[in-house]
Amino acid sequence: MLYLYNSLSREREPFRPHEEGKVGMYTCGPTVYHFAHIGNLRTYIMEDILDRYLRYSGYDVKRVMNITDVGHLAGDSDDGEDKMLTGARREHKTVLEIAKFYTDAFFEDCKKLNIRRPDVVEPATHCIGEYIKIIKKLIDTGYAYVSGGNVYFDTSKLENYYVFNRQNEEDLAVGVREGVEADDAKRNKCDFALWFTKSKFEDQELKWNSPWGLGYPGWHIECSAISMKHLGEYLDIHCGGIDNAFPHHTNEIAQSEAYLGHKWCSYWFHVLHLNTQSGKMSKSKGEFLTLGTLEDKGISPVVYRFFCLGSHYRKSLVFSWDALENARGTYDKLVSRVAQLYAEGDGDIDAAAFEEYKRRFTDALDNDINTSLAITALYDVLKADTNDKTKLSLIEDFDRVLCLDIAKNAKARRDADEAKRQAEEGDPEILAAIARRAEAKKNRDFALADAIRNELSARGVTLIDTPEGTRYTVSGAQK
Ligand code: AMP
Ligand code: ZN
Repeated sequence: MLYLYNSLSREREPFRPHEEGKVGMYTCGPTVYHFAHIGNLRTYIMEDILDRYLRYSGYDVKRVMNITDVGHLAGDSDDGEDKMLTGARREHKTVLEIAKFYTDAFFEDCKKLNIRRPDVVEPATHCIGEYIKIIKKLIDTGYAYVSGGNVYFDTSKLENYYVFNRQNEEDLAVGVREGVEADDAKRNKCDFALWFTKSKFEDQELKWNSPWGLGYPGWHIECSAISMKHLGEYLDIHCGGIDNAFPHHTNEIAQSEAYLGHKWCSYWFHVLHLNTQSGKMSKSKGEFLTLGTLEDKGISPVVYRFFCLGSHYRKSLVFSWDALENARGTYDKLVSRVAQLYAEGDGDIDAAAFEEYKRRFTDALDNDINTSLAITALYDVLKADTNDKTKLSLIEDFDRVLCLDIAKNAKARRDADEAKRQAEEGDPEILAAIARRAEAKKNRDFALADAIRNELSARGVTLIDTPEGTRYTVSGAQK
């Protein structure tokens, strides 16, 4: 049985979806104003493992992801400039051009990292009608109010607003936390905007008509609305990086539960950060590493995935080039060892061994997605006292979840090794045919000798008889 740590209860809990056998999973997607950095990608890799492991375990998973192309302000709360506008200005493009470019770039990165594309990917700008519907009801039921031209959620209407941690209200209230002026239009410091018609900057590019005037949605409402649109009133798992627990996810819960009138999401899966040696990696700091940076240094994306799987998702991970180099070396050795199995592997699958090692693997992942233990289970297979065929089947099976391209790269390594060996020693099949021809000639069976020569010639192999013996060429390469 799968156990997951739930940030909401702060406990490891047995995973029981709302509807048996089915899982609704929501993932906060990227804010597409820049390339994703490798910290963002760590979060998506670890969420991908959860997604794939649920499928591997037989669940019918529907995963939904938004694309934040509007409403995410620089301060993560309600202050600062819209991140999309910042990106558009930086690159002298329109917001929609920026959104398209970086959405495509994000999914390119995901593809390279073997991150499965969610079943539904929904840009925030496509759901304005849904936000308006929710906000209207929140106003009608007294959970939201219009003030200073904006619509705010009234957090004082909730018994428990700070659901994830017992933060000090004063420390976290918007304005105090960010060290900026509190918004006078808010009734309570921690209220948050659902809809803006007025903000500190007036040149917002994308605006829509609403009952409260021309404006645009707040960032938090998009995830509640998009999740409910595609996954209904009960969400099983909500994923995201830990920085989003407050205020983003806290606000999502506040508005969703106020709107629905019941508990909304059962499990909160938060991935801890990838940090640099000098602190958190962040897009807004401007200095960050992308997958492209790693590739430029000759590190393949799958090595970065392997690096991430070496640590538990609930521990922060410190990035260094040395650690990544180490991961590359380890991955290379792993591939070489598996390549050897492909070169030699024979026999029938040993069902008992298969079950035993598969159990080690599922035990690891059932234990709150412990990927480093799952990789240990993979090494256990390599050391196991069973035949190569069984080992290969296990490795291929595990790689349905790990998606480290182990089989693909091992087969390529085996083929490359074989091609190298043939380049050095000659193709064993051709050398055998040459030996048979020499034998035929010795026996004065010239008809057979000619038949062998013709057969080779039909395959593009030309024989050259020399005083030292017969050599051959294939497409010009002489042996
Ligand atoms: P964003 O594109 O800024 O909306 O972030 C995309 C995802 O990356 C969110 O789930 C964030 O919580 C997550 N994230 C942001 N910074 C980091 C980091 N340094 N390490 C891991 N995940 C991060
Ligand atoms: Zn979100």
